[in-house]
Amino acid sequence: MASGADIVVKNLTKAYGKFLAVDHISFEVPKGSIVGFLGPNGAGKTTTIRMLTCFMPPTSGTASVAGFDVFTQSMEVRSRVGYLPENAPIYTEMRVAEYLSYRGRLKGIERSALKSRVESVCQKCWLGERLRWPIGTLSKGYRQRLGIADALLNNPPVLILDEPTVGLDPTQIRETRKMLADLAGQHTVLLSTHILSEVELTCQRVIIIGRGKILAQGTPEELKQECARRNSSGAKLVVEVRGPAQQVKMALGAMPGVENVEILSDGPVCSLSVNGKLDGALRELIASTVVERGWALREMRTTGTSLEEFFVQITDPGATNPSLAA
Ligand code: ATP
Repeated sequence: MASGADIVVKNLTKAYGKFLAVDHISFEVPKGSIVGFLGPNGAGKTTTIRMLTCFMPPTSGTASVAGFDVFTQSMEVRSRVGYLPENAPIYTEMRVAEYLSYRGRLKGIERSALKSRVESVCQKCWLGERLRWPIGTLSKGYRQRLGIADALLNNPPVLILDEPTVGLDPTQIRETRKMLADLAGQHTVLLSTHILSEVELTCQRVIIIGRGKILAQGTPEELKQECARRNSSGAKLVVEVRGPAQQVKMALGAMPGVENVEILSDGPVCSLSVNGKLDGALRELIASTVVERGWALREMRTTGTSLEEFFVQITDPGATNPSLAA
């Protein structure tokens, strides 16, 4: 295992017949970090996770989790991974504490330690008030928390969570995010999702997979910069000014580095889109010019560099792999 990484994947491949659902992927998840595993439907996320959690063997390639090989040391891997599957099968008639005790016993936790482990995971996952509730009466959000509590029961170094916020309302999503942030540092987390905002807010690194291949990996910031670099015509500065649109357009168009200015909307406040060399000097010049002319600057923002735009670009079948790809 590479030092400092809890998940190490090398050339991992899974074929269903002739179809390569996972096609020679390689990546690492550093210890104690939260890494987002992002991809559109059918990209190969669940297939990869099922190999990492020893539910199916790879066709070729290797993967190790917490230092153990998923193929040859599956018992060691299973005891060190907490796995939240996309649809956690949960016994609806059992009560929360009863279910966790049952799961704890299955995971080999000693009877003497079981009560305190159940209390500890319930506290981490904010389940305290629901201990005696039948699972069937819990909301989707509480069931997801229960699934995460189950994954944490034997305090595994590695957590693999498949779509932990799917089907939750915005408040529940925010709460789950906070919970994941609390777990970072104590556990290494691989978080599979197709929700971009989740990755941007929660993860230190992102791996983007599409059609079975790794398309890009890096920090959210690196991916955004890559997006801007690859598509400089896509990065635009949107400027909103209280002033006459045509005159503002002429003033902006005469500035060094500006290639094109387009009026997006006209009125007492006009909105213009600028492209060209969009650096700090240009922003300062725009701000001072607008003030000198007696107009008012309402807003200046860059568009075309979001993770979402990058995701759409690279998962588009016509797009080529960016240089950040592994
Ligand atoms: P989603 O976000 O929709 O869950 P995913 O990224 O998890 O997608 P996978 O479930 O890993 O994607 O599927 C990857 C590809 O492999 C898909 O094209 C899927 O149809 C195919 N696939 C998955 N399981 C099997 C199987 N048992 N037999 C044949 N093809 C399969």
